Parts: sequence; structure tokens; C-alpha cells
Amino acid sequence: MRWQGRRESTNVEDRRNSRGSFRGGKQIGVLSFIILLVGAYYGVDLSGLVGTPDFSDPISLNTQEQQRLDSLSRVVLADTENVWGNYFAQHNQSYHPPIMVLYNRETHTACGMGQAAIGPFYCPNDYRLYLDLSFYNDMRNQLDAEGDSAFAYVIAHEVGHHIQNLLGILPKVHQAQRNLSPIQANQLSVKLELQADCFAGVWASQASKIGLFETGDIEKIFRAAQAVGDDRLQKRTQGYIVPDSFTHGTSAQRLAWFKRGFQSGQPRQCDTFD
Ligand SMILES: [Zn+2]
Repeated sequence: MRWQGRRESTNVEDRRNSRGSFRGGKQIGVLSFIILLVGAYYGVDLSGLVGTPDFSDPISLNTQEQQRLDSLSRVVLADTENVWGNYFAQHNQSYHPPIMVLYNRETHTACGMGQAAIGPFYCPNDYRLYLDLSFYNDMRNQLDAEGDSAFAYVIAHEVGHHIQNLLGILPKVHQAQRNLSPIQANQLSVKLELQADCFAGVWASQASKIGLFETGDIEKIFRAAQAVGDDRLQKRTQGYIVPDSFTHGTSAQRLAWFKRGFQSGQPRQCDTFD
């Protein structure tokens, strides 16, 4: 990706050095686990990674790599601000971009305690997307999804949830889920996630037009979208798949909806609820 030297967003809150952001892994205990479940319900994450063991230690990112990913993330966020700013302007509305919070391991959010183990996520209650930069390594080591463009897709997906929030889709779906059976609630969750993938595709479409991608970058995104499919993740973590428990869609669905946004460049093509 040719992202170096481009505008970096200032809508970033850096909590990586704040005291109390990490309180020691094993002491977190049952309470945090419950909060985490609540958080996972009201927030929206990239994948069904909750509880996935063996994620690498965030310390393993060296300072130089931290700095590089910091810049990359800010540039991608700035780019989504351009894309969605234009879209809202076309509809005579102003776009209020999300704040990207950079943190290590865990942090407080208006959706409960955010944990790096669940991967990047968006909290609609505080309009923030939460990113532990070490997920870059996790993608490569645990998900076989590597590269800057794959990481950019992750950010664009979370911004997609912010768009859903601004459009009123997210609150409506969360409200509806309260009166549904778990299986039906999961089906709505899948629609939300696939739409966020489609919105990420819309971003990629514009990014492609301004020459952000180099040869192979889009293919890396395709691979990442498939890597975070529920079927793929379940097979990897438990060895079998349970379709009723899917919350994010299959690899094939995630790829298809990303492509739909990418090829059309039109958010109106992203109606997964139709
Ligand atoms: Zn998501």
C-alpha cells in the first residue's frame, strides 16, 4: 500500500501508555469475563474471536513497528473520513467521524471492558473504535492474513459499524435482538457484520481510485475477509462448525459482500437486510 506521506487523522486517542490500562492477565477474573460478554453484545467486533487462546503478546511489537502501524492506522482512518465525509455531504449531511482509541491489552469503554483478545471492535455508545496494534501480528500468526491492506480492511470494517450507528441501523438491530431467540439474534448480527464488510468494500473502492493499492493488496484483503469467516474460525478453534452460532457470516459471505461494496463503490448496494 502506498500510504506513507498521506494525511493522518487527528481523531485518535492514544491510551497505550496510560496507567491502569493493564491490570495483570490472571487477576482479571470472572467479573471482567462477564463484562466482556456484555461488551461483546452491545459493541461490534470484527470477528468471533472472543476467548480464542494463544494470541501473541503485544510486547512483541517493537517500537519501530508500533510507530509504523500507528501511522498506517491514522492514514487509513483519515482516508475513511474522506470517503464517508463525501458520502454524507452528497446527502446534505455532515459526517461526524469516529474516534480511534489505540490501547494495549485492555481498556475501559462505554460498552464494558475492551480486551485485545476479541480483536478490534466498535462501541456505538461512545462512537469509538478500539484497536490494539498487536492485532497486526495476530492476523499474520493466527489468521494467515497479513499485510497493510488487510489491516486497513479491519479498520474500514469497524468504521463501517460507525456508519451503521450514524444511519440508525445499529441501534435498531440491537433493539430488535432483545426480543429474539439467540439463533434469530445471531442471524441479525451476521447481517450487520456483512454490511460492515460491504462498507469496507466501498472504502476500498475509493482507495483504489486514488492509487492507494499496489499489486496484490486487494487479494490480501480478500484473504483477510475469508480468514475471519465464522466457519473458518470455528474449524480452526474447535475443529467443527455450528452454523446457528454464526455471528459474522461465512468466509464466502464475507468475501462476497466486501466485493459487492468494492466493485460498486455504492453504499446503497450494501443492504444485507433486504
Ligand atoms: Zn464487525
